[in-house]
Amino acid sequence: MLVLVNDQIKSREDVRIDLEDRGYQFGDGIYEVISVYNGQPFLMDQHMQRLERSARELMLDLPVSIGRLKEKVQALIEQEGRSTCSVYLQVTRGAAPRRHPFPTSATPVLTGYIMDSNPPRDLHAEGIRAITTDDIRWLRCDIKSLNLLGSVLAKQKAVEQGCQEAILHRSDTVTEGSSTNVFIVKNGTLYTHPANHLILHGITRHAAIQLAEKLNTNVKETPFKREDLYEADEVFVTGTSIEICPVTHVDNRAIGNGQPGDVTKQLQRAFYDLIVEETAMKAE
Ligand code: PMP
Repeated sequence: MLVLVNDQIKSREDVRIDLEDRGYQFGDGIYEVISVYNGQPFLMDQHMQRLERSARELMLDLPVSIGRLKEKVQALIEQEGRSTCSVYLQVTRGAAPRRHPFPTSATPVLTGYIMDSNPPRDLHAEGIRAITTDDIRWLRCDIKSLNLLGSVLAKQKAVEQGCQEAILHRSDTVTEGSSTNVFIVKNGTLYTHPANHLILHGITRHAAIQLAEKLNTNVKETPFKREDLYEADEVFVTGTSIEICPVTHVDNRAIGNGQPGDVTKQLQRAFYDLIVEETAMKAE
């Protein structure tokens, strides 16, 4: 496996992660996951902009310019000879003796590598099942930080109940999924939580909103309740890895008729078209 370290591509065996790296000890860092189709990173500029924003919010200096990083991501994909996969990038504040305040001595470190991934077309057709659970995360969910325990615990709870996603709520307001953004469809209108500090500003969420608007579907970025989920005509989630995926059951209750809905299917098709258009991938 090849690993990008700052702007150098190395073999995994030659990469050394310091025991006192603040990413390892404090979760003091940020990350991005970018899907690659046909050897082309999809919506890379949007991911890079979010990486820059997360860094800014944590007062973290990126060790590589975005221009150089984009070149290196492309080189990594080519050198690994990959077509469909994803790229994981993370930046930590670097290594220093373990004390909470920002160290003056540490230098941020960027690492990146290719992960196996395949769009889950079977789930896209069948839909997934979700549970709801309390959103116990911190109040800066807009920063894509390495602190993922709230999401890890929620996803584990979903898996233990035979479900693929956990939909999170604060009091009774639905925020997002443990690794996805959540939409409901009611009487032809899409509803999703506003992009504030309580959710990750998903790249796929944004693409779905733009596609819906192109299709003349009304979109309201407004909070909704857990009860609204159960009573929705359709529910779907969005994310880089899962793309746009219908949710057919929430807390064991069928959504609508318990089958993927028409609005969701229409958006899925528009999203596949966008991938083909952006990455010159052959349509399936
Ligand atoms: N919310 C959370 C909490 C996530 O972890 C993710 C996946 N990174 C998303 C939403 C979806 O974001 P994106 O579409 O940018 O992958």
